[in-house]
Amino acid sequence: MIFHQLQHELDERATQGLLRQRRTLDSPQSPHIVVDGKPYLAFCSNDYLGLASHPQLIAALQQGAQAWGVGAGAAHLVSGHFEPHRQLEMQLAAFVGKPAALLFSTGYMANLGVVQALVGKGDAVFADKLNHSSLNDAMLLARAEVRRYRHGDMQQLAQMLERTQSGRKLIITDAVFSMDGDLAPLPDLLALCERHDAWLLLDDAHGFGVLGAQGRGSLAQYGIDSARIVLMGTLGKAAGVSGAFIAAEQVVIDTLVNHARSYVYTTATPPALSAALLQSLQLIEQGDALREHLQGLVAQLRKGLGGLPWLLMPSDTAIQPLLIGDNQRALGLSEGLRDRGIWVAAIRPPTVPQGTARLRITLSAAHTADDVERLIGALHELAC
Ligand SMILES: *Cc1c(COP(=O)(O)O)cnc(C)c1O
Repeated sequence: MIFHQLQHELDERATQGLLRQRRTLDSPQSPHIVVDGKPYLAFCSNDYLGLASHPQLIAALQQGAQAWGVGAGAAHLVSGHFEPHRQLEMQLAAFVGKPAALLFSTGYMANLGVVQALVGKGDAVFADKLNHSSLNDAMLLARAEVRRYRHGDMQQLAQMLERTQSGRKLIITDAVFSMDGDLAPLPDLLALCERHDAWLLLDDAHGFGVLGAQGRGSLAQYGIDSARIVLMGTLGKAAGVSGAFIAAEQVVIDTLVNHARSYVYTTATPPALSAALLQSLQLIEQGDALREHLQGLVAQLRKGLGGLPWLLMPSDTAIQPLLIGDNQRALGLSEGLRDRGIWVAAIRPPTVPQGTARLRITLSAAHTADDVERLIGALHELAC
């Protein structure tokens, strides 16, 4: 019986400490959430600037709904493309310094669409082994040849590029690695692209809004740009709303409008969301003080977690993973924190490699120094 098999597989997962379950929030996203009627101090959202429930964004969404209704009603290529979408695309492109941009409903869909539109049979994709799952799924769907290099290993990537006979070559990477918090070596990647006439798809889900002057992202952080770089940014993390965009040369965007299946065959996002995002983009641009505060919290946490029996992984970003290793131990620690009123998610395989279960601590500009001190104190208690 199929149900019996499914149940057996789930039971197996549970014994390995790998069963995934959802928790329902009874409050808006913020460092202070309510789950099952109990308040928690939370360190696991990607709402890095604390914009997800910002009053100005709530007002912009309300006004957007007044002006444009609730649903887009059709795909962008039919009759679902509205003025707020068009304005947001223009402003996003200008903000990240690219000629054009295209909105997608989610980052997952943007990655599926862009890889499949740019490469296919006879082409090759080169991918960092620790890339986000959406990039992994995207390259399988594209049916190009797939080569995965060890995390950050530019020598191995160079060898792969030298040996390839394929047509188009596309390197794809997280700019900030989502489960590790470290940065991809963008200048080296770009140099390899130039030497081998390859393209670079940069997934800046965790850099957009957070890194670089005015939060312009990883490219601004490194001070680099090139027409070879196709940039993906998400709008549900630091931007606090929902959605994603690709920014690139006009001809790339035109190609996506015609060939990216996850763009063509789906209903456009509500135009009111774009109205909220236009406001969010302003707050991001004016948010250098928020980013400075966030950077201060990162330094405070790293200093405070020294001397723990677990490795705090090398990262300067808001993603600060504490490497535990064993799945059950990671779950146990997460529960120990929960007993103390603190919410940190335990991240386990297959999201991360076997034997590298971790507490993925994320900081937000909405946290205070006292919040971070509470987390530090609780982790030291649990280490005893
Ligand atoms: C979150 C994330 C995505 C997916 O973006 P969504 O908008 O949540 O679908 C893609 N890439 C990376 C690196 C991410 O962290």
